[in-house]
Amino acid sequence: TGTPTRVKTLRLASPEETHSLGVRLGKLLQPGDFVGLIGDLGAGKTHLVRGVAEGAEVPRSEVASPTFAIVYPYSGRIPLYHADLYRLTNYDDLYSTGLLDMVETGDGASLVEWLDRIPEAAPREFLRVTLRHAGADARELTAEAFGARPTALLEAWAPGA
Ligand code: ADP
Ligand code: MG
Repeated sequence: TGTPTRVKTLRLASPEETHSLGVRLGKLLQPGDFVGLIGDLGAGKTHLVRGVAEGAEVPRSEVASPTFAIVYPYSGRIPLYHADLYRLTNYDDLYSTGLLDMVETGDGASLVEWLDRIPEAAPREFLRVTLRHAGADARELTAEAFGARPTALLEAWAPGA
C-alpha cells in the first residue's frame, strides 16, 4: 500500500459526532470511491457507515439490523456497497461475495469494514479510516488517503483537521 498521500486525525467525543462525520462523508462520496474501515469490535465502524448511508440518502429501511451477509448493497444518491470482512480469512473468499466485481464496476462507493483482514481487497487508490477507543464515548479517527482522489475527498471531508 505504501505511504499515505495525506493523513488526518480527528477526535470524536460522542456517537453523535461520529454519526455527523459519517453523514458528511456520505454527501461527498462519488462512484469509484473506496473507504476501508479498521478498528476493534465496538470501535464505531458500523456506526460511521450508518451516518454515511444517511448522507448518501439511502432509505432508512435499507440499513437494516445486522445479518450474516458479507456485502450489503444500498441504493442511495449513488449505490453504496457496505461490506464486513470480519468472517473472511483469504482473498479467494472475496470472489463469491461479489464485492470485487462491485468495486471493479465502479458504479458505486464501497465501505469495507475489517479491511485489515484482507488488505488486498482495496483498489490502488483508497481512503483508510482507523477508529480507536479513546474513552467510553470517545474515539480517535485516523484517515489516511492513498492517491489523488482519496486526498481530495479527505480534504473536503475534514478541512483544517
Ligand atoms: P464496530 O462496527 O466497529 O464493531 P459499532 O459501530 O457496531 O462498532 O459499535 C460502536 C458502539 O460504540 C456503538 O454501541 C456506539 O453507540 C458506541 N460508541 C460510543 N462512543 C462512540 C463514538 N464516539 N463513536 C462511535 N460509536 C460510539
Ligand atoms: Mg461493524
